[in-house]
Amino acid sequence: MFHDEMDWKRAHEQILLQHPTEAQIKRVYHAAMNTIGVSPGHGLHLTFPLNYVEAAKKYRIPVAEFFYSLRALEKLGWLQLNEGIKTQSKFMFIADYTEVYDFKIRYAQYEPILDVLLRSFGGVFESYVSFNEEQIAKRLHKEQDEIVKMLNTLQKQELIDYNPQSVDPMLTLLEPRVMYPSINMDQLNELKERRLDSLENIKKYANNDNCRSAFWIHYFTQNKSEDCGSCDVCKKKYNSPDPKLIASNIKDLIGKESIDFHDLTFKFPNENRQLYLEILESLIDNEEILKTESNQLILPS
Ligand SMILES: [Zn+2]
Repeated sequence: MFHDEMDWKRAHEQILLQHPTEAQIKRVYHAAMNTIGVSPGHGLHLTFPLNYVEAAKKYRIPVAEFFYSLRALEKLGWLQLNEGIKTQSKFMFIADYTEVYDFKIRYAQYEPILDVLLRSFGGVFESYVSFNEEQIAKRLHKEQDEIVKMLNTLQKQELIDYNPQSVDPMLTLLEPRVMYPSINMDQLNELKERRLDSLENIKKYANNDNCRSAFWIHYFTQNKSEDCGSCDVCKKKYNSPDPKLIASNIKDLIGKESIDFHDLTFKFPNENRQLYLEILESLIDNEEILKTESNQLILPS
């Protein structure tokens, strides 16, 4: 298992991101209701398409925060999100005409596509216009992939804002819009705590210097169990030739219950088997381990 502190920090942050705060959820609620155009007291059982990526942009809310806040409202039974309908690709120029012109001069390979975008649609500096990448590709005798790549570059250069064709989720209101939503944070926090708990457990497992099998037995049953002798942690521990360590390992292998002599010796690592057998004999001689007549080994209580 490969991991470092950063991975755990990232996983922790991911969980926090997926569980927005009350203030965040309320802000998204109003932003979503305004976007679909529902006023207080209305909207019960109505369904609306909601492009939350655009809505998030408009309200300057991070997209992930918008999405997970909607999910939180869904968990609380306020609304439902469903797969929706396809929307058309849209774009608008966000740079002004002189910047676009300047870009055309500097990067001649973009001149044809910029000319098409400028000439084929009206009002492209004022608002989004719908278009079809395939048609532009045909007109410029290029592949559609190439056009999409160029549109993305123009977007990166902050010349245009390009929203490719997408499937807007459909939002169904299960409660009419309210002016002052009261969010049951207890329920949401419980889910969050559960996620954080299980992350903590996985972290313990990864950083564990005890037997991995014993870890899971304890995790699921709360029972302590003896070392398995064959996981990576056990192998490392049991392959050391230090007699003191071997003596304590043998005791760990016996655990709380009694164990058959031969069953125990099967758990000894091949590399140090002889050494383990010798130390086991001396432990029995010293009565640090008790051997019954039926060849059962047990630790003195
Ligand atoms: Zn083990």
